[in-house]
Formats: sequence, C-alpha cells, structure tokens
Amino acid sequence: MKNNLALKKTSVGKSLGREMVYSPAPEDSSHIKINKRYDLFIGGKNVRTKKYFKTINPSNEKVLAEVSYADGKDVERAVSSARKAYDKYWKNLPARERGKYIFRIARILQEKAREFSIIESMDGGKPIRESRLVDVPLAIAHFFYYAGWADKLHFAFPGLKPEPIGVAGQIIPWNFPLLMAAWKIAPALACGNTVVIKSAETTPLTLYKLAEVIQEAGLPDGVVNIISGDGKTGSSLVNSPGVDKIAFTGSTEVGKIIMRSIAGTNKRLTLELGGKAANIIFEDAPLDAAVEGIINGIYFNQGHVCCAGSRLLVQESIMEHVIRKLKFRMKNLRVGDPLDKNTDIGAINSSEQLKRITELVESGVTEGAEIYQPNCTLPAKGYWFKPTFFTNVSQSNRIANEEIFGPVLSILTFRTPTEAVEKANNTFYGLSAGVWTDKGSKSFNILNKLKAGVIWANTFNKFNPASPFGGYKESGFGREGGKHGLEAYLNV
Ligand code: NAP
Ligand code: MG
Repeated sequence: MKNNLALKKTSVGKSLGREMVYSPAPEDSSHIKINKRYDLFIGGKNVRTKKYFKTINPSNEKVLAEVSYADGKDVERAVSSARKAYDKYWKNLPARERGKYIFRIARILQEKAREFSIIESMDGGKPIRESRLVDVPLAIAHFFYYAGWADKLHFAFPGLKPEPIGVAGQIIPWNFPLLMAAWKIAPALACGNTVVIKSAETTPLTLYKLAEVIQEAGLPDGVVNIISGDGKTGSSLVNSPGVDKIAFTGSTEVGKIIMRSIAGTNKRLTLELGGKAANIIFEDAPLDAAVEGIINGIYFNQGHVCCAGSRLLVQESIMEHVIRKLKFRMKNLRVGDPLDKNTDIGAINSSEQLKRITELVESGVTEGAEIYQPNCTLPAKGYWFKPTFFTNVSQSNRIANEEIFGPVLSILTFRTPTEAVEKANNTFYGLSAGVWTDKGSKSFNILNKLKAGVIWANTFNKFNPASPFGGYKESGFGREGGKHGLEAYLNV
C-alpha cells in the first residue's frame, strides 16, 4: 500500500530539501444515508409540497437529493403548527423539562456527529476537517449551553420576569448550516419559544437530518418546524402575521429588505449580517502565529465567513517579511475534495457565489491592485477558487470595501497605531476584528477603539457558545450566544 505521506524531490525541493506530497485520504461516506427526497418537517410530520428542487454537491455538481419548496401556504401551515405547539404545550411546560429536551438533542447530535459532518461537507463543499472539528462540535456545544440556561432565566435577569416571545421565524445562510441552526434553535427553545426555521437553498440537508434528531428526542410535535425553499419562502416567513420574532442571518442587502417589511409591526427582530473585518498585524507581533491567524482568518471555510479577516492591515516596516511568510505558507494549502482529510480549502458553495468572487477579483485587477495566487491545480468539475491575496490595494478599491465572501484577502499597510484604527474602522461593517501584538497594553488600547462586535487578540475565528456574537453598523444588531443571546428570545 502507498504511504499516505510521500516525499518527493522537486525544484522547490532543491532549496528546501524535500517537499511533502499527500496521497488521497478520503473520509468514508459509503455508510451515509441521504434520502432521495426530503419533505418539509411540520408538526412532527413530513409534509409534501407541490414543487421540489435539487441540492447538489458543489465539489462535483452531482445531485444529492430533491428537497421540498415551501410556498406561502406551506409557510403558513408551519407557522400555525408552531403557534399550536406554543399554546398547547411549550409555553406551559416547566422550564426544567424544556431543558431536558434540548439536552437530549445535544446528546443525539453527539452520537451522530460523524454523519452530520460528512453530509455538511457534501452539501456545502467545506473541508471535512472543518465540519468535523468546528461546525458540528460547536453546534452540539450550543445546544448543551442553552439547555443549561432553560431553568435559570431568572438568574440571567434578576428581579425581572422573563417571558417567551412566542413563535420565532428563523432564516439562515449556507456557510454554516447546522451551526447557524443551532445558534437559532437552542436559545429560542430554552427561552420557551417555538420555531419555524428556513434553511438556505444550497444547503438544506443537515437541517432535515436535524429534524430526525428532533423526532428521536421526542420533542412535542410542532415545537420545531423545518422548511426549505428560496428567498420567496424566507420573505413569506418574514411577512407571516403569525410570527412574533424574526431572527435572520445573511446578507446586509436582504437584512435591509426584512427591516423594511417589519417596520410598523409588533415583530421583534435580530439581524446578523455581513462583514469586512480588519486583521491588524503590528511589527512587534509573534509573526509565525500571526501568519497562521491570517490563513485561518481568510481561508477557513473558503472565506465564506461573515467575520472573516478579509482586510489585512500590516505595519509597513514588516510588510515584505509578512508577504514572504504568507506566500510560503500558501504554497502548502491544499485545495480539493472536501471529503479528503488533508484538504484545507474545499469547494465554493455555488456557481452564483463563484461568479460573485470572480467578478470582485477581476475588479481588483482592473483597479490596479496586485494579485497573488499560489500554483495549484483545481479539480475539473465543481466550483473552485484558488486562495488569493491582493497587495497595492487602496482604500477606495471595491475589494477593500465589499464583502467578497470567498478565499480572497486584501492587504493594506499602516504606519502608526492611530492610522491602523482609522483604516480598520473605515468600513460600513462592524462585525469582527483581530489585533496581533506582543504588548498587552497596546492590544487593550486598540481593542477599545475598534468598532466591531467581536475582537480577537493574537488569534482569529475562535467561537464559544458562552460568548456573544453580533455586529455594529451594517453588520446588524442583536447578539447570539452567551447570556446576551437569551435577550433576543425573551420579553423582559
Ligand atoms: P442571503 O442571500 O441574504 O440569504 C440568507 C438567507 O435569507 C437564505 O436562507 C436566503 O434564502 C434567505 N433570503 C433571501 N432573500 C430573502 C428575502 N427577501 N426575505 C427573506 N429571506 C430571504 O445571504 P447568503 O448569500 O445566503 O449568505 C451570505 C451572507 O450571510 C453574507 O453576507 C454573510 O456575511 C452573512 N452571514 C452573516 C453571519 C453573521 O452572524 N453575522 C453569519 C453567516 C453569514 P435562499 O438561500 O433560499 O435564497
Ligand atoms: Mg448543496
């Protein structure tokens, strides 16, 4: 049998000794059961619809399953099922019992973690290493965390009487399907609400798998209803008169449409939108760690990350050094089969997203920025984009301002801490940021001046269910995670 890690002499090898070449190490997916067809999950039952659409594997364009398309009537059916479940059992259930159901979901998910990881990577294109080590464990942690809060809400809001809101309509994007569902369903249930959740068009499968878990956990019928469709389905949910709260994660553009539709109603709203985060590297930063932070900040999940460190701000004195290290590191990134355990960068989620990334990258070249892409071969089928960075970027370039939502980094320089802060805050967004320096005092000083909801110091893209997440400005409002995440689902 061939060694998994073969060593080969190459031209690069002449200066470095030898280069590592990996043999394929695919995760076994033969035991994974994906149905041919998925119906809506309403009132604890599978409900057929008039229309179905296909979800594909973006790494090979093969159809994985047919999925129900919910029209306005189907949405109303799901909302009234959630209402019935709310009035009939959920709002009257002792909080401890609610908690038990959520604990049960967490434990069943834990048993099926491997299956969920594989399906997430097949449906969405993300590397199996990430779905197995990030998406699924964090989703489980979220359910465990909020299960614990269910009977302790009075400690979270001492002296007050927290009450559930009612029926929550939840809409999620395609970049972290199961994780975003956990971020939304877990706190809603813990606070005593019932739920109608809509998956994104390209990634409905793990939510329907979650429906199976919910059934296995014995949740009363209608407490969680799962639907799929497109933007119109989402819009019907937003405009349904039976919904008391909308929780939306997605683009700023759609967030604004939702805000307009909800204006003048009694509906509560939380919006988790886009970002264009600054990742600031000072000359005194631990550089090898910072380069890992840059890589993780922008190439994690193909850059389909709302809080991605997509604007790198490097202190001018170390620019050349950082670029040299970054290029060397990028040559070792492996782009390819999401189910291969050695893959660092998987497939772009859809042809539409690939088009958007390509268009923005072309604008970068046209506007005069300098592009770098390592030499790597992309698979023939599927949607792929090489890890990319731009230097010579000016503040006015589209690639410095617009969210690319792909593996593309824009690099700018700064001279002083004041200039770093000015440039970092020079954006419509305000979701996240990163600061790399050896000095704790400098770190605190800068952190306090950055206008972003989540700021990492000497690390990037770290998540924890106990830590609130959310934005400023056009990145939205409301927090998910932590004690703050409870407020979004309660009348206090
Ligand atoms: P999107 O187009 O806004 O879609 C998000 C969700 O909204 C999808 O389920 C989509 O359905 C649905 N939708 C589309 N039009 C709608 C409408 N008019 N009314 C109601 N719902 C509608 O965003 P995306 O391209 O899927 O996701 C990428 C965006 O999400 C990025 O901007 C990213 O930054 C943001 N994001 C933010 C966070 C955060 O926590 N702040 C986390 C992850 C992603 P279909 O998919 O079926 O069209
Ligand atoms: Mg898909």
